[in-house]
Amino acid sequence: MLLRDLGENGLIQRIRGRFPSTNAVLGIGDDAALLRVPPGCHLVYCSDLVVENTHFLRGIHPAESVGYKAVAVNVSDVGAMGGTPRYFLLSLAAPGDLPVSWIDTFLGGIERACKDFDVSLVGGDTSSSAQIFADVAMVGTVPEGAAVRRSGATPGDRIYVTGVLGSSALGLERLRAGDSDSDAARRHLYPSPRHRIGALSAAGVHAMIDVSDGLSTDLAHIAEESKVTARIYKERIPGADGATAEQILHGGEEYELILVAPEELPGSIDGVGITQIGEIVAPDPRGKLLLVAGGVESVLASGGWRHF
Ligand code: ADP
Ligand code: MG
Repeated sequence: MLLRDLGENGLIQRIRGRFPSTNAVLGIGDDAALLRVPPGCHLVYCSDLVVENTHFLRGIHPAESVGYKAVAVNVSDVGAMGGTPRYFLLSLAAPGDLPVSWIDTFLGGIERACKDFDVSLVGGDTSSSAQIFADVAMVGTVPEGAAVRRSGATPGDRIYVTGVLGSSALGLERLRAGDSDSDAARRHLYPSPRHRIGALSAAGVHAMIDVSDGLSTDLAHIAEESKVTARIYKERIPGADGATAEQILHGGEEYELILVAPEELPGSIDGVGITQIGEIVAPDPRGKLLLVAGGVESVLASGGWRHF
């Protein structure tokens, strides 16, 4: 069956049937959802748009992964503010000749992400288009005053990353070569956002960002917003097995966290390794990022993902 045979109402009923009970006051089915706002909390609100042929290729990325990642990337953004993700809307546009089986598998990925990250689908919108567009808009909560911005890094702070870097870029390379069964490919298709670490460490960090565009690009965002320079040490950066230096420094879609803290952080939080890779220094006229490799310091240009 094709999407045009199912129709808009059929599709919405299909989604509603699969995501019936939520933690929300009112989920899918009315003009809008109703959500409870815990007292003493700010809402953390973000969205991320996934576009076919820009962010994924139907021939390479399984529909389940497209659905899973659309949710995971928002979970990562909420977590990078120190927040706890709660609810999301899904806006979906797809061609009429798309097999409904693709949608069913995509929704399976969304369902899996809902379980893994304890979030609920509460509504959305549906349209048609020549390519698949999937936009997830997520709302989370953070205690008032506890959110962590990009702008708080201060000279003397230590720079940490969670987990290892480079596996997503390596995984995409492996997928393109036809290997979907390696750890790296799985990490690319089903990332593990570090939202719990974000919420757990919020009180002790000055700045935080998730690695969505690549270490060099995302750390530069912290340096830019904080008006400081970040110095990192190549030999200290934890890389995935088999990843190249390029993939470790610049690879995107890692969904690890960069944490900037005034005091030493524990070696692991929530079972995930935390590694110090450098420090924040006063703004350096040479640039926002300095890389020390083999004892030699040089300016590091941001690489990684670029739209347009
Ligand atoms: P309206 O005409 O008021 O915009 P819709 O017919 O678009 O209403 O949507 C009806 C209900 O279905 C709403 O509760 C909406 O949130 C939900 N909905 C529509 N599309 C989606 C989707 N892609 N995913 C989840 N819920 C959806
Ligand atoms: Mg609508």
